Amino acid sequence: MFDKILIANRGEIALRVERACKELGVATVAVHSTADADAMHVRLADESVCIGAPPAKDSYLNIPAIVAACEITGADAVHPGYGFLSENARFAEILEEHAITFIGPSAEHVRLMGDKIQAKETARSLGIPVVPGTGPVGADLEEAKALAQGIGYPVLVKAAAGGGGRGMKLALFENELEPALATARNEARAAFGDGTVYLEKYLVHPRHIEVQVLADGEGNAIHLGERDCSLQRRHQKLWEEAPSPALNASERVRIGETVAEAMRTLRYRGVGTVEFLYEGGEFYFIEMNTRLQVEHTITEMITGLDLVIEQIRIAAGAPLSLRQEDVRFDGHAIECRINAENPHTFRPSPGTITHFHPPGGLGVRVDSGAYAGYTIPPYYDSLIGKLIVHARTRNECLMRLKRALGEFVVDGIETTIPLFISLIAEPDIVDGNYDIHWLENHLAKLGTRA
Ligand code: ADP
Repeated sequence: MFDKILIANRGEIALRVERACKELGVATVAVHSTADADAMHVRLADESVCIGAPPAKDSYLNIPAIVAACEITGADAVHPGYGFLSENARFAEILEEHAITFIGPSAEHVRLMGDKIQAKETARSLGIPVVPGTGPVGADLEEAKALAQGIGYPVLVKAAAGGGGRGMKLALFENELEPALATARNEARAAFGDGTVYLEKYLVHPRHIEVQVLADGEGNAIHLGERDCSLQRRHQKLWEEAPSPALNASERVRIGETVAEAMRTLRYRGVGTVEFLYEGGEFYFIEMNTRLQVEHTITEMITGLDLVIEQIRIAAGAPLSLRQEDVRFDGHAIECRINAENPHTFRPSPGTITHFHPPGGLGVRVDSGAYAGYTIPPYYDSLIGKLIVHARTRNECLMRLKRALGEFVVDGIETTIPLFISLIAEPDIVDGNYDIHWLENHLAKLGTRA
């Protein structure tokens, strides 16, 4: 096991990783920007190092400063959390060059899955069903039109280096293809420094269903069931649940086993999530995330496993702690992302939290670094916490969620809590009857900014 883990992240996920380290008896090092000096992840770590100015490129993305922080503190491993450097293959390599363990998959697998075109090719070759689509689309418009014709409209233009829904543009008809290609390329170039785009069949009413995997890098892999993340705004997940209200047990086993088998063949290491769109009873691979995800908590609630502890153990060279037949799925879990945003306009609402009272009681978990008196800096994403609720059935889970949301007090800033309180009264939500467009359509009906 490691002696000391440096957590190259901030906010709730840095705290989440610290908790796992403490339960493993491993010392922790927090890093922080000058804007985060009194953040909870800094207060609760054994040691902390300031790594730079507030903009992420100067601190949480500042590789030399993070490597220096490891050397100063003697950390022998780095947990990257999600976002920031978590899917940066070069970062993984640099750490290895300094004899520091990157808690994650091999740099080769991070790179492979980071390119969505290569990821789709790999998935297909491993027997995973993929969305019909193309390879990189060149500058010739007539050629692009022919490719789109081959797939059939509507088509989605997507960035090969994509993430966070950026560089993604819809073309309903042929006359929309040229502007969609141009906008997607520009967005991709600006966001990722790589304007490569490809085309994909646009699925009209799919659900977003993703499979969690755990693998040891030696050819052993298990799946931990699926999560349904269909409730999204601008391709950002807001509400996730496990299991999916749309799958039956045999579909669950079928897709889970397909993914686990692919990870065995790949000799994948660590935690990973294979994301699908699900429509008409079929699964279509869209991408793989080679890191811990925000919504990993709901899988923890229904399996009783601590995914971060498993992740750290695997990185330290331990074999998987359980076999597929040891995995038990128990009850239902829902996560709501509490963002510091206006619940109608979704405008970020940084500022000082005056009162903070998280809900409690049986089956209620709050992962958050927020506290009364904490000032949310304006530099980072707006997630200030996650409310996770677990119960025996989906109905009990919804009732518990309603109760917990009613208890949650966050004063001084605006949050998405009122949005979730209103969603829980919607018949479609109660029935689990929603696809990836449901939330935006619903917000448009309410006259809010979808
Ligand atoms: P990113 O990495 O930018 O988040 P993803 O490929 O994971 O992009 O897609 C994000 C979301 O965009 C999906 O959850 C889904 O809502 C929507 N989406 C992606 N591909 C398609 C598609 N082919 N058809 C319809 N919707 C899609």
